[in-house]
Amino acid sequence: MKIKLSEIFFSIQGEGVLIGTPTVFIRLYGCNLRCEWCDSMYAVEGNEYVVRTIDSIIKETEIYRCDNICITGGEPLLQIQQVALITEKFININKNIILETAGHIEPPNIFKSKNTVISMDCKCPSSKMNSTINIGNLLKLKNKDQIKFIIDNNNDYLYAKEIIKKNKFRAQIIFQPAWGSSIKLLTEKVLSDNLNVRVLPQLHKDIWGDLKGK
Ligand code: SF4
Repeated sequence: MKIKLSEIFFSIQGEGVLIGTPTVFIRLYGCNLRCEWCDSMYAVEGNEYVVRTIDSIIKETEIYRCDNICITGGEPLLQIQQVALITEKFININKNIILETAGHIEPPNIFKSKNTVISMDCKCPSSKMNSTINIGNLLKLKNKDQIKFIIDNNNDYLYAKEIIKKNKFRAQIIFQPAWGSSIKLLTEKVLSDNLNVRVLPQLHKDIWGDLKGK
């Protein structure tokens, strides 16, 4: 089975509950959303990709001798069969898999396995893609998974706060400021409203800036 691949690189996990963990990133090509602040448009449009076999991708990741694999995009679940198969193969060689997905497509059953984490976005209004959110997919997530709100302004904050108050999510909730927005301001709002969420930066961007392959 073949995969449309944008890039493979070794870095630290810059976002979410596994922040700071050395990780091999497999970035798949293609996305049917167009978020206003997308930071990986080269994996969304422009046809910069290679077509690779699943086995050749797994072999390349082994160079890094790392147990943590992040499947990201683009929107990886546009290649859902390939994602399910490569994840199964990684689990069989004892890797830990994190899937980064925008949330409008239901992840395959393999992501119920314990050594997987689903990192699902809940798109806020500043993305201009908030009409695509699927609360049902977010509610199905388990406590090993995470829901990520990228918050650019007060309107996004109020929207995210309303959604977490209205729904009983099992997944961990991450509030992440959009690149360039104040993490201090966001933290102060979370504390003032006493929200049970984790405020986290994009650590890789604090270290390297907005660089491709980092
Ligand atoms: S879903 Fe992700 S990859 Fe697709 S446009 Fe939005 S931020 Fe970019």
